Amino acid sequence: MSTMIDVKDLVMVYSNGTRAVDNISFNVKKGEFFGFLGPNGAGKSTTIKVLTTLLKKTSGSVHVSGYNLDNDSKEIRKMIGVQSQDTAVDGDLTGRENLMLQGHFQQIPNKILKERVDELLKLVDLENFADKRTRNYSGGMKKRLDLATTLVHRPQLLFLDEPTTGLDPQSRSAIWEYLEKINKEEKTTIFLTTQYMEEADRLCRTLAIIDTGKIVASGSPTELKQQLGVDSIKITLKDCAKDKTTAIKILKSLTGVSNITESGDCLTVFAKNASQLIADIIRALDSLEIRLAGVNFSSPTLDDVYLEKTGKRIRAEELTKKPSATFMGGKR
Ligand code: ADP
Ligand code: MG
Repeated sequence: MSTMIDVKDLVMVYSNGTRAVDNISFNVKKGEFFGFLGPNGAGKSTTIKVLTTLLKKTSGSVHVSGYNLDNDSKEIRKMIGVQSQDTAVDGDLTGRENLMLQGHFQQIPNKILKERVDELLKLVDLENFADKRTRNYSGGMKKRLDLATTLVHRPQLLFLDEPTTGLDPQSRSAIWEYLEKINKEEKTTIFLTTQYMEEADRLCRTLAIIDTGKIVASGSPTELKQQLGVDSIKITLKDCAKDKTTAIKILKSLTGVSNITESGDCLTVFAKNASQLIADIIRALDSLEIRLAGVNFSSPTLDDVYLEKTGKRIRAEELTKKPSATFMGGKR
């Protein structure tokens, strides 16, 4: 497979000094479904804006389908479709009119355009609402139309910035289906950003996990989880605030424990032989009269990969809480 996106040592510093993208390198193969997973403020949108020629990079090199971003940005714009984080549909127009307008911008001949618009309305299940004004569409319908809008000119490469953030689960899985279809049937290369690990896990064949402008891990979802090489045990204490510090001390002393982090449900212990360790953990806590509210054993998720690399949870609902500390840090 040949390369669609090639990024080397990319840096983007805003005029106020914020280093939003801090020396990242990655490449995306033609036909691939590639994901950027990371929390709010990680640098996802900035990266997309640079790659889609909307923002000027500070340094580094970017090639898209062999075109150099510095000299051939016009060529790059022609072959890409971009869905930005905020939907951009015109409420005074119907769904069909929005798509036709986009086609006219792209100078697509009318006859071809009409057929393409019908095809796209069908793809995103908006046929029955095609001639209604979009101001009356639900959030999910607007996102679907917005996605269709980016596809009018049959881009070879599609950039999607958090296409499902804020959507209800039903609209989300509908979008997932369309994206899989576009990737499979139209062979469109997709670059998607998300803060939902379930989304990255389900859709992306290759992932980069991004945190404060840096790529902290990359590979296929399976590779990333296997690299972690450990299971996680989530421990909820009856009185987390009171017993946490003592519990961490005793848990650290157990053989086989490789890392302990604070998490939303109290503590997460990473261990290679988690299933054997559970009995030891319960015994140790019991000997100190620390009461447990629950113990939950699981194979690694992408969230665990992120937690292990950064000491933070990626979950969107966790983002407002203060960042949790890593106790026994360090790489194995
Ligand atoms: P994400 O899309 O992953 O949420 P962004 O790329 O939007 O992250 O932001 C990355 C960092 O850059 C954040 O710290 C954000 O506050 C900062 N940032 C974003 N846009 C601007 C801007 N126009 N000027 C200055 N800083 C910005
Ligand atoms: Mg963003």
